Amino acid sequence: MKKSKVSASKALIDDVVAASRVLAQQGVLDAYGHVSARSDRRPDRFVMSRSRAPALVTAADVMEHDANSEPVGDDRKGFLERFIHGEIYRARPEVMAVVHSHSPSVIPFGVTQSKLKPIYHMASFLWSGVPLFEIRDTRPDNDLLIRDIPLGKALAHSLGKCTCVLMRGHGMTVVGDSVAEAVFRSIYTEMNAKLQIQAGQLEGPIAFLSDEEGKRSTGTNRSTLERPWELWKKAASAKGRS
Ligand SMILES: [Zn+2]
Repeated sequence: MKKSKVSASKALIDDVVAASRVLAQQGVLDAYGHVSARSDRRPDRFVMSRSRAPALVTAADVMEHDANSEPVGDDRKGFLERFIHGEIYRARPEVMAVVHSHSPSVIPFGVTQSKLKPIYHMASFLWSGVPLFEIRDTRPDNDLLIRDIPLGKALAHSLGKCTCVLMRGHGMTVVGDSVAEAVFRSIYTEMNAKLQIQAGQLEGPIAFLSDEEGKRSTGTNRSTLERPWELWKKAASAKGRS
């Protein structure tokens, strides 16, 4: 095995490890899905685990990837869908973290005409819209997975300037200004989807957040991000010890 060359700080790698475990514990990731962060020392690179179930990820599993999503100086097997991350970092220079999941409650919104919208303040970041990526438009013969650069580019194009993109018959991808924010958004997108389905069974129409409420609430939530992040990390590490 070649010696890994990682530019990212230890603190950032620890965040990726913590995020993987938190999202597994919160039911957003299972054996599949992944978290990455843009390197804090080389913005053209990002770090993510080798191909491994998120709940089992340790710092030693984290590899640095170049702008084409290939592991740098490391011959261990990367995730098949690492191109999701690389192409979003290329298209969106301000994005610092990406989560890709097969989050169960969002799946119905990817395969029906129902639009996922912010139903409560914790998911207010969805105010800017949740686009749907249709892989058939790029590749009619597909296995649903984002397994190369052209598919990664098409997904990043669908995401546009939004915070979350649904992937038909597959899952979703969420971005953030930090690992903590991407984790927060993944958890509350799953929660919002669940609540929206529940509300749909009651007498409608549903009163969603307005764009203005969405913008204001997104700012407020940013200022309290450390609180849930600390709690989730503690809960995930306690579970790891039991
Ligand atoms: Zn996937």
